[in-house]
Amino acid sequence: MADKSTSSKGSTVTAETPVAATPKGKIYPIVKYGDPVLEKPAATIAKFDAELEHLVEDMFASMYAANGVGLAAPQIGKSIRLAVVDVTVGKNPEAKIVLVNPEIIHAEGEVREEEGCLSVPGFRGYVVRPQFVTVRAQNAKGETFEIRGENLLARAFCHEIDHLHGILFLTHLSMLKRDLIKRKIKKLRKEGEW
Ligand SMILES: [Zn+2]
Repeated sequence: MADKSTSSKGSTVTAETPVAATPKGKIYPIVKYGDPVLEKPAATIAKFDAELEHLVEDMFASMYAANGVGLAAPQIGKSIRLAVVDVTVGKNPEAKIVLVNPEIIHAEGEVREEEGCLSVPGFRGYVVRPQFVTVRAQNAKGETFEIRGENLLARAFCHEIDHLHGILFLTHLSMLKRDLIKRKIKKLRKEGEW
């Protein structure tokens, strides 16, 4: 994941290159399934400062570099209740959503759709999620807001909020499918490819 950012730079950087020309945000490697940080509940965020705002930018940069529509802080090894979502994958700046300490306050309907996770690369499975959800969260400044999501956006909210509870989408799969994926990952790990 991380090498994408270096290869995309291309042109030679000189001393005259303005600082503004460097891409915004640090790109973190994505933590993979098997790391305990993914399976423990994340801590509530109480401090809303410049450091948090920087981390939010880094999370968006890391998510776009990995071509994801959502990223939760535990996926970059930080066990805090922060997630970012953008179902347009960077095409629409207004679609950027920052969720600090989010909770689902309303859910409605059911949709069964295939889902994947940046922390479980190469594997997908069908997960039933609500068609509509309303999330209450804080932004990076600590202001509380509510946002409603439908279909893919609702799915992304549920998936990312699950991450903050230490739950992976694998939990929602059939036991058969889950065991199959876990066996394949075990094999990949043995081969040093996970
Ligand atoms: Zn995920």
